[in-house]
Amino acid sequence: MELSQTDATLLAVSKTRTVDEILSIYQQGQRKFAENRIEEINRKAPLLPKDIEWHLIGPLQSRKVKEFNPIVHLFHALDRQKIWNKLNEWAQTNKVKVRALLQIHIAEEETKHGFSIDEIISILEKKKHLEWPNVEICGLMGMATNTDNLEDIRNEFASLKKLFDELQQRFFDLSQFTELSMGMSGDYKIAIEEGATMIRVGSLIFGPRK
Ligand SMILES: *Cc1c(COP(=O)(O)O)cnc(C)c1O
Repeated sequence: MELSQTDATLLAVSKTRTVDEILSIYQQGQRKFAENRIEEINRKAPLLPKDIEWHLIGPLQSRKVKEFNPIVHLFHALDRQKIWNKLNEWAQTNKVKVRALLQIHIAEEETKHGFSIDEIISILEKKKHLEWPNVEICGLMGMATNTDNLEDIRNEFASLKKLFDELQQRFFDLSQFTELSMGMSGDYKIAIEEGATMIRVGSLIFGPRK
């Protein structure tokens, strides 16, 4: 994959990769990296150049909220009200704002995380998000079903884009709610065609994970 080829912002997913592997991609010009565990960002970031922009793309468990790090530029996997509330408390205590995306469950697999479409609309209609002002909601994230059926993947991404447009219009500030994070190594092209502003690509950049 050419690192500079797409319209959407490319995040290099460096989970399971060593600091040296990350550095070699950094030396090719990549500055945005994503990990799925906060411990990995906390461990790797001090060993790597300071101009790396770190993204957390995996869910936070509630006992891990206290390990959250202000170095995280964007947290993509806000998937439960309980974490939303706890992260807001953490941010208030530390006098920072946390930028986050709401993860929406669009795939068929039950194992994937996220709010259902009905659930998130009902939360926002109750104005719950205004109770947690230190968590700034910047958009949505979703993962498509792991399938060879490209039409299914396209439909899932299209439904997320439709929800993004609706939520942006009904509940959020246009200048703040701007990011739609969808697409990975296997489906990033479809995601871009369906409106992704950020893609999260691991194995195409680093090679297959063990
Ligand atoms: C691992 C991971 C990716 C990247 O997966 P690849 O198939 O290696 O591109 C993207 N998003 C999330 C949430 C991940 O956990």
